[in-house]
Amino acid sequence: METYRSLISKQKSFFKTEKTKNISFRLEALQKLRTAIKKNELVLMEALRKDLNKSEFDAYTSEIGFVLEELRFTIKHLRSWAAPKKVKTPVTHIGSTSYIYPEPYGVSLIIAPWNYPFQLAVAPLIGAIAAGNCAIIKPSELTPRTSEVLGTLILDLFPEEYIAVVQGGVETSQGLLNEQLDYIFFTGSVPVGKIIMEAAAKHLTPVTLELGGKSPCIVHEDANLKLAAKRIAWGKFTNAGQTCIAPDYLYVHKKVKEPFLQLFKDTITELYGKEPLNNPDFTRIVSKRHFTRLTSFLDNGHLFTGGNVDQDRLTIEPTVLTDISWEDSIMQDEIFGPLLPVLEFDDLSEVVEGIHRHPKPLALYIFTEDHHIQEEVLNKVSFGGGCVNDTVYHFVSPYLPFGGVGTSGIGAYHGKGNFDTFSHLKSVLKQTTKFDIPFRYPNVKNGLEKIKLFMK
Ligand code: NAD
Repeated sequence: METYRSLISKQKSFFKTEKTKNISFRLEALQKLRTAIKKNELVLMEALRKDLNKSEFDAYTSEIGFVLEELRFTIKHLRSWAAPKKVKTPVTHIGSTSYIYPEPYGVSLIIAPWNYPFQLAVAPLIGAIAAGNCAIIKPSELTPRTSEVLGTLILDLFPEEYIAVVQGGVETSQGLLNEQLDYIFFTGSVPVGKIIMEAAAKHLTPVTLELGGKSPCIVHEDANLKLAAKRIAWGKFTNAGQTCIAPDYLYVHKKVKEPFLQLFKDTITELYGKEPLNNPDFTRIVSKRHFTRLTSFLDNGHLFTGGNVDQDRLTIEPTVLTDISWEDSIMQDEIFGPLLPVLEFDDLSEVVEGIHRHPKPLALYIFTEDHHIQEEVLNKVSFGGGCVNDTVYHFVSPYLPFGGVGTSGIGAYHGKGNFDTFSHLKSVLKQTTKFDIPFRYPNVKNGLEKIKLFMK
C-alpha cells in the first residue's frame, strides 16, 4: 500500500508556517478557486457529461453553480466568522471577560463520492480553506473524468503542501487514513462511514460523516397534489435518483393515492418526455454493478409506470412501484436510483411507526396544508433535515446546516456551518490581575457558605 506520509508531513510543515491563519490568504485562495471554476465551467460540464451523462443544466445547478454560491457567501462573511467572538461572563467570574476563538485543525482529509463528484469534493474544501486548514481531497474513482479535471484545477492553483488531490480507490483512501490527520470529512455510504470512523478512532481524529439512508416522503390527504407530484418527481429523478437526499420511498394517504399517482405519472412525462430513455439529458446509472442492483428491484410489487431500461447506456427510466411493503427487497436499503416504491397509509401513526422501526433518515419530506400535522411529524420523527411541501431544496440554503443524525451521519456543513465544521472553537477566559476574589481558595473563612451564595 502506498504511503502518504511525506505529503501529509509536507502539509503539516506548511500549516506550521501559519500562512493559512491569515484571513487575507484564505480569501485570496477562495477567490482564486472561484475564478478557476468559472474558467473551467465547460471542461467540467464535459467531464460530468462523460461520467454520468449529466445535462449542462444539472451540471450547473447542482455542481458548478452550487459551489460558486457557497464560495460567494463564504467570501462575503469570512472576516466576521473568523473573528474571535466576545460572549457573556457569569457573575461568579467577575473581573474577567470571555471569548471564543475559532482555530483551524491543521491537515484535513476530504473523501468524496461519485454522485455529485465535483460539488461534494469542493463544497467541504471551501469550509477547510475558509477555516484556515490545509486539505487533501480523495475524489471518487467511479467518476474518473471529473476527478481528473478537479485534480488538474487544484494542481494549477495551489502548491501540494497547501491543497492536494490524490486520485485512487479504496486502497488510496485507506493509505491516507492510516496516517495521522487533524480532521476527516467523509461523504459516502453508511458501511464505509463505519470504516472511516474506526480509522479515525485510532488517532482520535475528529470526523464529519455525511452518509445516507432511506429518506421518506409523505403525501397526506389534504396535500396540494399537483404541486406535490411535481416537486417529488423533480427531487426523486434529478440525477436519476442518485442523490443522497432524494425521496427514497413514498407514503401516500389511501384516500388520495390514485389521483396522486395519476398526476405523478403525468408529471414524469411533462418533465422527462414520453420516452425518458430517449431523453438525451437523462442522467445514467454510474456503474454496471449499480445498474444490476437497481434492475433487480423491478419485480417488486406492481409496476405502475416506467420499468424500461437500456443496459448499453446504463439508463433506467423513472419508475413507480405500488403494492410495496417493508418486506420487499427494495425497502431493505437505500435505493439510490430512479425507482420509487409506494406504501399507503390510513392514519399518520402508521407512518411514524414505520419510520421509527428503521434507522434515522438523512431527509424527510411531508406534503400537507395542515400545520398541526406538519408539527406532529417534525416533532415526532428524528431525521437529518428536510422540507415541508418540497423536496431536496433545504440542501441549497447556506443558512441551513446540512447533515444527518444516527446512521445518516455525524456533523453538518454549508454556509457558516461549513466554516464551523472545520474550526475548533477555542474557549478563552481573560482574567483581571487588578484584584483576586478569594472564595475559590480552600483557606477562606466560611468559604463553603459564601460559595453557596453563588453556586446554587
Ligand atoms: P462509498 O462509501 O462507496 O464511497 C465514498 C468514498 O469512499 C469514495 O471516494 C471511495 O473511494 C471511498 N471508499 C470506498 N470504500 C472504502 C473503504 N473500504 N475504505 C476507505 N474508503 C473507501 O459511497 P459512494 O457509492 O461513492 O456514494 C454513494 C453513497 O454516498 C450513498 O450511500 C449516499 O447516500 C451517500 N451520500 C451521502 C451524501 C451526504 O451528503 N450525506 C451525499 C452524497 C452521497
